[in-house]
Amino acid sequence: MNSEPAEVYFGSVIPGNTAEWAAFAAKVDEVIKMLDFSTIKKKDKVAIKMHLGFRDGYQTVPVFFVRRIVKAVKEVGGYPFITDNPTAVYNAAERGYTQETCGCPLIPIAGVKDSYTYTFKADFHNVKTLEMGGVLHDADALIDLTHVKGHNTCGFGGAIKNIALGGYHGPSRWTKIHGVEQSLPYWNADKCTPEHAKKLVDACEDGYIKYDDKKHKLTLDLGMCHQCLDCLKIDKNVGCLQIKQENFSLFQELMAIGANEVLKQYDEDKKFFLNFAINITPFCDCWGFGLPNVLNDIGVLGSRDIVAVERASLDLIGKQKIIENMMPPFVRLHKGEDLHPFQKMHGPMKNPYITLDYAEKLGMGSQNYKLIEVLAPKETNKQKGPSTVTETAPSFY
Ligand code: SF4
Repeated sequence: MNSEPAEVYFGSVIPGNTAEWAAFAAKVDEVIKMLDFSTIKKKDKVAIKMHLGFRDGYQTVPVFFVRRIVKAVKEVGGYPFITDNPTAVYNAAERGYTQETCGCPLIPIAGVKDSYTYTFKADFHNVKTLEMGGVLHDADALIDLTHVKGHNTCGFGGAIKNIALGGYHGPSRWTKIHGVEQSLPYWNADKCTPEHAKKLVDACEDGYIKYDDKKHKLTLDLGMCHQCLDCLKIDKNVGCLQIKQENFSLFQELMAIGANEVLKQYDEDKKFFLNFAINITPFCDCWGFGLPNVLNDIGVLGSRDIVAVERASLDLIGKQKIIENMMPPFVRLHKGEDLHPFQKMHGPMKNPYITLDYAEKLGMGSQNYKLIEVLAPKETNKQKGPSTVTETAPSFY
C-alpha cells in the first residue's frame, strides 16, 4: 500500500469573511473540484449512494448540496443517478428529493421489488452470503455521499456504513448484517434460573434484556446496549452473562467486508467519498424522525480514500464536546476523557475506529491522511470580502 498519506479535502462551515466565496457552499464546490471528477468518463453511469432518510427523518445531506454534486458529474459528461433502498427512494419526495430538485433520476438500489441483487460469499460467522444491490453493482462509478452521524450499533454512521448497510437489499441489511452480532454466545441457559433471568431483565433500566420464561431464553439487544454493565453487576456471583468486545466488533468487521465488496465493483479512479459532518445526530437517519444535533457542525470532507475520509471525520468529531443539553434523556452518556464522543453516546466497546482497522486490513484505504483545508477561515479572513449587496429588484437568481 502507498505509504504517502491519503489526501482528505476539508471545508469548514465557518466562513472567514462576509463574502459568498468564503462560505460553506463555495467550500463544498472547492472540495468537489479537488476530488476531480474528470476520471469519470463520458456516459459513465454514476451511482450517488445516499441515505435519503426515512419517514419523518429529514437530517440527511441537503438537496442544496446534492444538486451541486449532480451538476459537477454532468459537467464531466457522466450520467448521475441517486440510489438508496426502495422505500427511501419511493418516498424521497417527502423529504425534498425528486428528479427535479436533485437534477437526476432516483433509482432503487435493488430494483422495484428489492430483489435485483448480486450474491457474494461472505462466510462470516452466521452470514453465508450477502446480496448486493444490483443497481449499485451495475454503475460505472460511485460517489458515496454521506451524512455523518452517530449509530447505535457501531458508534458511527459514515461512508463505510452508507455502502455496507445501504449497498445491500433489505434482508441482507436487517437480517444478516444486523443479525451477525447475535452469532456469538453471551448467555448460558444452564447457569441461569428463571428467577435470576428476571433479575437481569430488571437490571437493564433501558429494557434491552428480554426473557421468555416459556422457552427459558434470554436475549440482549446488542444493537442498543451501551455497556453500562449494570446487568453484569447483578450477574457477578452467577456468571451466566457475558458482554465482550467481540459481541460488538463482529458487526463492524462485517460492515468492512460488505463495503469492500461494493468498492471492488469499480475501477480505482472511479470512487469518490464525500462526508457531510453537519446536523450530527446521535442516531442513524433510518430512525425515521428528527433528532437534536448533539455536536457542532464541522463541515464537508472529501477523498478518494474511504478509510482516510472516515478517519479524518472521526478525528474532527473527536475534538468536539458533546452539546449535553441537546442530548435526549434516553441516552445515558459515558464519562471518560479518553472516549470518543460516539463512545460516550453508544458505549466504550462501540469504538468507531475499530471499523477502520478492519477496513485498512482489507486494503480498502489508509488511516494515514493529510487534511487539506480549502478556503480556510484564517486565510480568507485576511482577504477582503465585498460590501453587502442588497437586492433591489428580482434578479431571477
Ligand atoms: S450493559 Fe447496560 S445497557 Fe447493556 S444490557 Fe446490560 S444493563 Fe442494559
